[in-house]
Amino acid sequence: MEIIQDIREMQRRASELRLQGRRIAVVPTMGAFHEGHLALMRMARQRADVVIATLFVNPLQFGPNEDYERYPRDWEGDLHKADSVGVNILFAPAVEAMYPNGYQTYVVVTELSRPLEGAIRPGHFRGVTTVVTKLFHLTCPHVAVFGQKDAQQALIIRRMVRDLNFDIEVLIHPIVREPDGLAMSSRNVYLSAEERAQAPALYRSLRWAEEAIRAGERNPEKVIEGMRRILRREAPLGHIDYVAVCDTETLDELVELRPGREVLVALAVRFGSTRLLDNVLLTVPE
Ligand code: AMP
Repeated sequence: MEIIQDIREMQRRASELRLQGRRIAVVPTMGAFHEGHLALMRMARQRADVVIATLFVNPLQFGPNEDYERYPRDWEGDLHKADSVGVNILFAPAVEAMYPNGYQTYVVVTELSRPLEGAIRPGHFRGVTTVVTKLFHLTCPHVAVFGQKDAQQALIIRRMVRDLNFDIEVLIHPIVREPDGLAMSSRNVYLSAEERAQAPALYRSLRWAEEAIRAGERNPEKVIEGMRRILRREAPLGHIDYVAVCDTETLDELVELRPGREVLVALAVRFGSTRLLDNVLLTVPE
C-alpha cells in the first residue's frame, strides 16, 4: 500500500491513474478503523481498479467543545487494516496543508444540513461538505463510498454531488454492527463498561419501531414515544438528543406514515460526551 501525505503528490498520482484509464474509488474516513470502515473499503475494492482511503481528522467539522483533540487515532493499526483489505493508496494530508493560513472557502448544502445533527452541531456539515469537496478534487474518484450510519451525511453528500455536478457515483454501504446490535463507531471506545452495556438499546428501539410500523402503527409520534420509552428504560445513562421519523429525501419530520412511503427512523443518544448515532430505513407496508 502506498502512503501519500503530500497534496500535490496525491493530485499528480490521481491524474496519472486517470490517464492510464484506471477506475478510482475513494473512501473518506477519519481513521481509527473498525469493521465498518473496512466494509466500505471492500465495497470500493469491488467497484474500482484503485482504492484510495483518505484518513483525515477534519477540524472543520468539530465544534469548539467537541472531541477533535481527543478523537481516537491509531496510525499503525490503520495502515495494517487498510492494507489487509486491498486499499492501494492511503492519503493522509496534514491539517496545515488542507487549511493553510488565509483559508476562507466553504461548501454548504443549505436545507439538508439544518435538522437532526445540524441542529445540534452547527457548522458540522459545512465542515464535512467542504472537506469532502477538497478530497474529491485531490483524489479524482469515479466512485465514492460512504456509510449509512451517518444517514444525514450520506444524503447531504448525494445532494452536493448532484447540485455541483461532480461526475462521481456515490455508494452507500449499510450499517455494520457489533454482534449485540450496536452500530460500529470509532467513538465506541470512549464508552465506560456500563455505558457500553446499555448502548445496544439504541438499535433495540429502532427494531421496535420497525416492528410497530410493520404491525400497523401509522402515527410517527406514537413510534417516537415508544422508542423514547425503551431508551429511558434500557439506557438510563443516555441522554436523548433526538429521535425522529423523517422523509428519506428531505429529512422533513413526518406527521403520518402513508403506505408505500420510504421512512428514515434516526436517533442520537449521548453517553457523557460520547454521542452515538443510529438509524433504520424502511418502507411503510401497504
Ligand atoms: P468516520 O471515520 O467515522 O468519519 O467514518 C468514515 C465513513 O465510514 C463514513 O462514511 C461513515 O458513515 C462510515 N461508517 C462509520 N461507521 C460505520 C458503520 N458502523 N457502518 C457503516 N459505515 C460506517
